[in-house]
Amino acid sequence: MLKALRGTKDILPEDVTAWQYIEKSARDIFAIYGYKEIRTPIIEEASLFIRSIGGATDIVQKEMYVFTDRGGRTIALRPEATASVVRAYLENSIGSREGLAKLFYIGPMFRSERPQKGRQRQFHQLGVEAVGSDNPLLDVEVVALAVRFLEKSGLGGFSVKINSLGCKKDKAAIIEKYKKIIKPYLKSLCNECKERSNKNVLRIFDCKNPKCNEIIKGIKLTAALCKDCASHFEAVKKGLEGLGIGYVVDPKIVRGLDYYTKTVFEIIYEGLGAKDTICAGGRYNSLVKEMGGKDTPAIGFAFGVERLILAGQKSVCPTESGVDVFMAIAGQDMEARAFTLMSSLRGKGLSCDMDYEGKSLKAQLKKAERLNARFVIILGEEEFGRGKVVLRDMNKRSQCEVDIDNIINML
Ligand code: ATP
Ligand code: MG
Repeated sequence: MLKALRGTKDILPEDVTAWQYIEKSARDIFAIYGYKEIRTPIIEEASLFIRSIGGATDIVQKEMYVFTDRGGRTIALRPEATASVVRAYLENSIGSREGLAKLFYIGPMFRSERPQKGRQRQFHQLGVEAVGSDNPLLDVEVVALAVRFLEKSGLGGFSVKINSLGCKKDKAAIIEKYKKIIKPYLKSLCNECKERSNKNVLRIFDCKNPKCNEIIKGIKLTAALCKDCASHFEAVKKGLEGLGIGYVVDPKIVRGLDYYTKTVFEIIYEGLGAKDTICAGGRYNSLVKEMGGKDTPAIGFAFGVERLILAGQKSVCPTESGVDVFMAIAGQDMEARAFTLMSSLRGKGLSCDMDYEGKSLKAQLKKAERLNARFVIILGEEEFGRGKVVLRDMNKRSQCEVDIDNIINML
């Protein structure tokens, strides 16, 4: 038998309710904050991600699905959406039409990683990108949006960690400084980190290896920002405090991707085990220009939806809702009549279903229970002859005869 690819998952009907709940919650709050949905293609030129995310990152070096199509083009399944959104922003001149563009997306991303709990090869992200302003209040808005989304979804028990990498110049200095700081520890770190020390030292602080983690925990980091970046960061912190949003400044939040500058942040959900980062984001003030646009500051975040669902499963995500009415057929000629009545009820907007498998009445009633039906209409020949059907109220566990002509109004 054929099976789904390793690291990919079917989202079955019984699980979909939780997904829809999270998605609706996100859409509602994004609308309140003025973010509009954008849907970009899943496939893009691979160079889009190599250029933006950075050639020395794990995503590009190890995780990206890249293939050559029939026309000889090098194509990637998107590993994340920021680069795609910026590409779409430039290609469609969204900035010149709207000024600051506030966009959100929800959809699948692809990374060839070792699958485990909270880590898949096809996973989903929902995120926002605000392109076109360096105002620190926008940083505050974006972090607040992420926090309010969690609160609105009933997902308590998280913490916000923020940091600033400063402007390009600051970031370069931080990288040089951290290279020196990390040097004495290098021999104890994993082979990948040894490589990272030259190519992408920041990613060392994001290493998933438990041994590296332990060592990194013991290292104290301090970074100096230029005057502008320091005051930007102060304004962000003050803004968060003004909104009553708790946060911790953590110099080890560095985000490994090349495009990040200034504010970076992560939201950690306690109780998710090792894969406890449910949201990551930050400013990327030079990306738009690097991709061929004007100098355009921007900021965004992405939530991992699978991890949101894991976090919310036990508490908040609702389970499947039931149908309004199930039609039970209790007589030979009743099938067609049940079908007609069901069509009328559906026409009035009631959710209805019936048996198509020739089940016994007992089995049909069982099915009605399984479908969590609010009412069951039982169509028996004798009652039908008298212009009546039996209406069973599944909550009250009671039933009565009702005129067929009246049933639609009644329900
Ligand atoms: P991690 O450190 O867990 O590998 P990352 O730094 O690679 O995450 P980002 O690129 O910042 O992750 O993506 C943002 C969010 O998307 C993560 O915080 C996480 O919730 C989710 N995410 C990333 N990769 C996966 C994956 N393979 N499976 C499920 N969710 C993922
Ligand atoms: Mg990763």
